[in-house]
Formats: sequence, structure tokens, C-alpha cells
Amino acid sequence: MYPSDRSAQRLRRFRAGARVIGWLVTFIGAGHLTAWLTGYMAERGLSSITMKTNAALGLVCVGLAIVLLEAADAGRWRRRAAQALAVIAAVLGSLTLLENLTGWNLYIDEILASEHQGALGASSANRMGIPASTSFLLAGISLLLFSRAKPRSPALAQWLALAICLISLLACVGYLYGAQSFYAVTRITAIAWPTAGSLLGLGLGLLLIRPAEGLMAQVTADDPGGVALRRWPPLLVLPLLLGWLRLSGERHGWFDAATGTALVMLCVIVAFAVVAFRGSLAVSRSSAALVDREERLRLSQEAAGIGAFDWNVRRDFNFWTPELEAIHGLAAGSFRQTRRAWEDLIHPDDREAAARKIDEALVAGGTVECEWRVVWPDAGVHWISSRWRVFRDSSGAAVRMVGVSLEVTERRRIQEALETTIRNLERSNRELEQFAYICAHDLQEPLRQVLLFVQLLREDCGGDLDGEAAEYLDRIQQGGQRMNDLIVGVLQYARAGSSDDGCELVSCEEVVENAVANLSAAIGDCGASVTRDPLPTVKGNRTQLTQLFHNLISNGVKFRRDGVAPQVHIGCGRDGDGWVFSVEDNGIGIPAEYHAKLFRIFQRLHGQEAYQGTGIGLAVCKKIVEAHGGRIWIEGRVGGGSVFRFTVPGVRRSFEEGVEKRG
Ligand code: ADP
Repeated sequence: MYPSDRSAQRLRRFRAGARVIGWLVTFIGAGHLTAWLTGYMAERGLSSITMKTNAALGLVCVGLAIVLLEAADAGRWRRRAAQALAVIAAVLGSLTLLENLTGWNLYIDEILASEHQGALGASSANRMGIPASTSFLLAGISLLLFSRAKPRSPALAQWLALAICLISLLACVGYLYGAQSFYAVTRITAIAWPTAGSLLGLGLGLLLIRPAEGLMAQVTADDPGGVALRRWPPLLVLPLLLGWLRLSGERHGWFDAATGTALVMLCVIVAFAVVAFRGSLAVSRSSAALVDREERLRLSQEAAGIGAFDWNVRRDFNFWTPELEAIHGLAAGSFRQTRRAWEDLIHPDDREAAARKIDEALVAGGTVECEWRVVWPDAGVHWISSRWRVFRDSSGAAVRMVGVSLEVTERRRIQEALETTIRNLERSNRELEQFAYICAHDLQEPLRQVLLFVQLLREDCGGDLDGEAAEYLDRIQQGGQRMNDLIVGVLQYARAGSSDDGCELVSCEEVVENAVANLSAAIGDCGASVTRDPLPTVKGNRTQLTQLFHNLISNGVKFRRDGVAPQVHIGCGRDGDGWVFSVEDNGIGIPAEYHAKLFRIFQRLHGQEAYQGTGIGLAVCKKIVEAHGGRIWIEGRVGGGSVFRFTVPGVRRSFEEGVEKRG
């Protein structure tokens, strides 16, 4: 278990203690109230000192308030309810104290139940004494302080709780040893033992409400001081027990006063020695663990080249580890430990932005990551990457910023080189595409002229040409036509995937229908059938997606088997957040070793005599799919044919809605 887990568990245990005590005190108070309302207590008051009704009511109020405030995340209404209960307890306590000190009768003692005159230890019928009334006043104030979110409040509230513990402990010790002067000197100082016991619990409960704050922070601390302090509570009970044993022994004549005192002293010495030894062992173990942890942290930071800092924002004291100083090119111990000194080390061009980042972090809190340049004393410029966490007090003000930094100059250099290379690549790619486009575009014009003049020559001297000349003209026309196809293909390839074209929501069903309509002549000629699943709407470029489906469907129709009517099916399924489309045919199929190769431009498996084409169509498909953020590949198909699949990252919802509508 990590130390932080252990201390969280300890805090939970302390708060659970407060809750248990709160309920216990509430039940004791409620029990006594019931006894008063049934008349039982009024009778008992003649023979013993009793808990008064207002004291019982006070216990219920304070007990419930402890339970309400104990929750670590006590919300607004819990705090408000606790404050109301605290005010009732404080008013009860202060008015009764006033009655006791002045002798006035404010008629508050017998509101709930009356007591016979002359009840034991009561200055006036059913009036609680000075110790109890003072304790309720203190408890009320203490609870009000706990319910405020002010930094000093918990410590103050805990001092008041300690005062309640002391007052009630006095009475408890008195009862334990039969020392009447401890629990009742005059009638207004008398306190019943259940009241004294409950008030002692109540004081302890108040101490446990906020175990991580104020005085209790020392008790629950993880450091050796906290460890030592937590060993002592048993020793506080021991003297009480020994004193009681000694008195009982003497009363029963088991031993005389001298022997009793000697025995007590002996036990106290042994107990102190044992506790001191065990305490020192625990402290040594805990500080050894701390040193170990610190050493391990230091070594790992050193190995990783990580420097750490801890900035006390209020005092503007900025502690830096020697590694952090080294990262800034400073000698160990030479950093001046203020925010100003920190900012002075930052590169002048980054300083303003860095200062703003620090200010924003102090306001917004949480974790912050940033990178900036620092200037070493030798004028060298280094990049530093930091990650900090800002801690705030209960009022939300930033009190501490803790973080780590490491030098990333080399990484930044590589990153910058990479970015430059990417920029250059993109530029040369754009230039190449433009070059191909311009070349292809300019080639079209002379070609058109060649074809035109061949046509004119045919028309003008068609009858005069002999068989050989006519064949030459045919060849020129075929070559020119093929060249035209190639130029159109190259132009398409150069334009495919261009980011200049707009992106919109495109219905793939519409797109496929347009592609099929464009191919209707070829489809009709060979009696092909083209079918499709319901298709989604995706985000993309309409013209390019139409081109993509056009190329794949036309290949499915073109590369058919002799005597088999082509069947092309377009399917679609889910691919994470996007879609995977398939264009499947029953044609000649593609050997697996060519699956990847065919997406390169001008790659063909057949001669022009067998299947006409340019070898550009699939390269265009690949460019379009990649421009849409997807990938394309070929799969074999059982029973012949091939399957082209491609993905499109997409707007899945629109498809589901579409399918639902169709369904
Ligand atoms: P083209 O169809 O103009 O030849 P493509 O780039 O579209 O150019 O296709 C490249 C090659 O891939 C084709 O020549 C053909 O050999 C093969 N191919 C493409 N689609 C199919 C298909 N559906 N069935 C069989 N082979 C195909």
C-alpha cells in the first residue's frame, strides 16, 4: 500500500470515529430526553446528580451536527443544518451559563420537563451546571467554526474541543476516584457522570471531524512526528487505570499506601520506557522509509534528467532540485528561489507567454503542460518541457505549485527538422501535381489537332488513299485516341484527392446511382447486373466519391469472364466509428501477389487486345480513399472474382437514421 493510500485510509478511520461518537452522543441525549419526558429522571434527581433536559437536548444537537459535518464533502444543506443545531447548543449553553453566573431565572430550564425542588447538585430545578453549560457554548462555537471554509477555523475549533475535553475529563476523573471536588464543588458546578462522559466523547468527536486540518494535521501526519504522536494515546489512559487500581487496592486493604504508590510508579516507569522505545523504533522506521523514498525519487529523477520544483505561492519561495538547476545551466544551490528569478531564466521571446501561462494556472488550478526556451548563463538556448500541478486552499486560492521539467532541445530539433521536411514534401508534391496537370492539359491541344487533321485527311482524300495509307491513318487515329485516354487519366490522377474540392455530407446511395447511370451503356452492352446494400451518408467530396465508385464498378463489369454475365454488388458494414465498403464482382479475379501492386499508376495485368485501359483507375481510387482518411485493398473471392474494400471514417448516425427510415 502506498503511503498516500495509508494516510487516506487513516483519515477515513478518524472521520468514521467522529461519526460513531456523534451518533452515540445523540442516542445518549435522546435516551435521557425520553427518560425526562416519561418522568423517570425527575424522581432519580432526588437521589443522584442527573443529566438535565437542556443538557440532553444539547447532546442531541451537537451529536447530530458532528454527524452532518463529518462527511468530507459536506454539502451546503448539511452545513446549514449543522450550523442551526450548533446555534441551538450555543444559545442553551450561554443562557444557562448566564443564569448560573448571575442567579437570574430565564425560565429556560424547565421548558421540556420539570424537576422536583431540591434535586441533588442543581442550583435551580432542572438547570445544568457551569461545566456543562460552558461546554455546550464552546461546542456550539466550535461547530460554527468547523462549518466555515476559513483556513484558521479548524485549528481554533479544535482548541475549543480540547477545552471541552479538559472540563469533562476533570469530572470523569473525579467520578473514577470518588473525588467529589472534581465534579461538584458547589451546586452550580455539579455535573452528572453520564453528562461528563458524553461531553468527553463530544470533545473527542469534534477533534476527529477534520482530521487533516488544524492541530489534528500533526496527529494524522505521515511524517515521524505524526507516527510518534499516534503511539501516545494508550499511555494517557494508563495513569487513570493505575490510579484507580491503586485506590481500589488500598480501599480493599490489599496493600498499604506506600506499596500502592511504589507499584504505580514502577508500572508508570515500565510503561513509559516501553512506549518511548516503541515510539523511537516507529520513528526510526518511518524516517528510514522517508529517506529511502526520497533517495529513490532523487536517483530516478537524476537518471531520467528530470528536475522538480515546489513553489510556495504565498511566500514566493520556489524550491528547485539540483537537477532542475542543472537543466537551466545553473550550479547546484545557485537559483534565487523566487518567481522573478524563474522568469528571468526564460528566453525573452517566450517570457511574456510563460508568465501568462503561470498566472492562468494559478487562477484555473489543475495540471498544466507547457514548453518554452530558457537561456543558460553561457547564452545557450535550450528547450524545456514542464508539467505542473497547482494546489489550492479551501477558499480556492493557489497556495502551492509542484512540477517537473526536462530538457527537450534534441526532441524539438528533430521535430522542427521533421516539420520542415513535411512542409517541403507537401510543397514539392503540390508542384509535381500541378506540373502533371499542366503537362497533360497542354498535351491535349496538339493531340486534338492531330486527330482533327487525320479526320479531315480521311474526309478529303478518303477515296484517293490506297489500302496501306488508310491503315496508317487508322493506326494514327487509334494511337491518338489511346494517348487522349492516357492524358484524361493523368489529369484525373493529378486532380484526385485534391483538398481544394469541398467536403460535405454525401449520400453514398445517390453517388452509386450516378456512377451506375454514367456506366449504363457498358452495363447494358454485356447484360451486367449491379446491386447494392443500403448505403450510409458520409462526409466527403461528391465528385471524387462518384469517380471512386465509377472506377470500381466499371472494372467489375470490364474484367468479366467469357460467357458469364457480370454481377457487381456494393456492400457496406461498420468499421469502428466509420464504414467499410465493398465492391464485389464475379469476374476473372486477381492473383494475390498483385493485390498491392495494382494500386500503383500504369500497372496492368493484361494487354490492350484482351482488356482496354490505361492502368490509372485504381491509382485514382487509392488517392481518393486516402484523401478521405481511409484505406483500400483487394481480397480474393471464393468461386472466382474479386472484392475491393475501402474504409471511410464517418458519420455513423446518419446511416442508422437512414436505415431506420427505410426499414
Ligand atoms: P485499367 O482498368 O484501366 O487497366 P485500373 O487501374 O483500373 O486500370 O486497373 C489496373 C489493373 O488491375 C487492370 O488492368 C486489371 O488487370 C486489374 N483489375 C482491376 N480491377 C479488376 C477487377 N475487378 N477484376 C480483375 N482485375 C482487375
